[in-house]
Amino acid sequence: MTDHRVAPANLFEQALQRLDSAAAVADVDPEAVQRLRHPKQVLQVSIPVRMDNGTLRVFQGFRVQHDDTRGPTKGGIRFHPNVTQAEVQALAFWMTFKCAVVGIPFGGGKGGVIVDPKALSKLEIERLSRGYIQRIAHSVGPDTDVPAPDVYTNAMVMGWMMDEFSRMQRQRVPGVITGKPLPLGGSLGRGDATARGAYVCVKHLERGRSWNPSQTRVAIQGFGNAGRHLARLLAADGYRIVAISDSKGGVYRSDGLDITTLIRQKEASLALGTVYPAGSVCDCPHCGAVDCHCKERSHGGVTPISNEALLELDVDVLIPAALENQITAQNARRIRAPVVLEVANGPTTPEADACLIAAGTTVVPDILANAGGVTVSYFEWAQNRCGITWSENEVHQRLEAIMGTAFDRVHATADRHQTDMRTAAYILALERLAAGITCCGTERDFARHA
Ligand code: NAD
Repeated sequence: MTDHRVAPANLFEQALQRLDSAAAVADVDPEAVQRLRHPKQVLQVSIPVRMDNGTLRVFQGFRVQHDDTRGPTKGGIRFHPNVTQAEVQALAFWMTFKCAVVGIPFGGGKGGVIVDPKALSKLEIERLSRGYIQRIAHSVGPDTDVPAPDVYTNAMVMGWMMDEFSRMQRQRVPGVITGKPLPLGGSLGRGDATARGAYVCVKHLERGRSWNPSQTRVAIQGFGNAGRHLARLLAADGYRIVAISDSKGGVYRSDGLDITTLIRQKEASLALGTVYPAGSVCDCPHCGAVDCHCKERSHGGVTPISNEALLELDVDVLIPAALENQITAQNARRIRAPVVLEVANGPTTPEADACLIAAGTTVVPDILANAGGVTVSYFEWAQNRCGITWSENEVHQRLEAIMGTAFDRVHATADRHQTDMRTAAYILALERLAAGITCCGTERDFARHA
């Protein structure tokens, strides 16, 4: 994957550009827009961790609460070496708008720790997870700020964090965190919720564009929670997934890849006692090596492809599902897919947006396309707080209803304002947020009369 990452300070600035574009069109109070330009709270923490070899390492972490007008702040925790404060701020900002687009009663938050978690043992990751939640415990809780998984954190990590928080409170508090393992109060249907929400968007596009799945070529960048489950759902529907990649590179097959085998291969590499699968989609199905040149590697027409080349493939749908800033001013003109479904957060820069719009590309924006995860997190939080359990079917039906309504509203807003889907999603969210901020009252009147 190309390291197109912009200077850290720019990432939050980029996020604000989307707000400005929407504010120029939406009929909202400028003071509400002004409020949304600034996160409510930015917390930076140091987390000392005893490593397995007895040495001490101190990791840096962040928790940002962007806006809580519509409810407790909500957003995942990322473990990644490239985490920065600006990135976490941008991700928290996007969460505020995402929750408003789908109309769930949460604001936006996000957390992150600067760490290469794949270089740590399982016990070290557990100590880091517990240490991180200890440091931010005073400002998270079911009514204030509710974390969840993001890149390189998962249900196991959420379980440790919930257990640690509960220990500190001297009572079980399942509603403090979502994306937990089922035995600790996780929700059925949370595991593949992000993918399932994106899948609802694909089905709406399919109806609108009369796609025939078997003739619709899809490329997916990222084969983690979001990308892997979406590949499974689309392949089961008959979509031709011609390219898939992960952090080690990708594979391509013009007639479509065998997704079931790729998933089995990846999941089989998650050994007992580890947190992440060691395998890659690039591993040779015959000998298991990434750089193998044996005949079986290209058996059936499967060829290696880089993350950069995957983005530029001649496909019908391109799905970035890994990290931000993948489609930039440098490569936007070479994007051939007429539809980009943003499952990752922030995969397209504002400069690239302009190129894609000029080329007539339809971009289903991240704050809509990947909102399935936070929607089922909301269901998990609601179930925890009411002490009830919904069936998987009920979760799927509720998710489909919320995502379908949001997709239609964004589409209608785009038609009404004659604009692209991203700007439309921001307009819809901004109108809802500004209405809430205005309802909060008379703060500004006090200032006027002071
Ligand atoms: P994950 O940790 O499960 O998987 C990340 C995937 O990205 C892995 O396949 C990894 O190999 C790949 N990857 C990492 N670095 C890469 C690189 N440099 N080049 C190419 N691929 C790389 O993470 P996830 O939960 O699937 O999240 C993926 C994206 O979706 C992120 O942008 C995340 O913020 C977003 N998202 C996730 C959720 C969720 O519920 N998990 C919800 C909304 C948005």
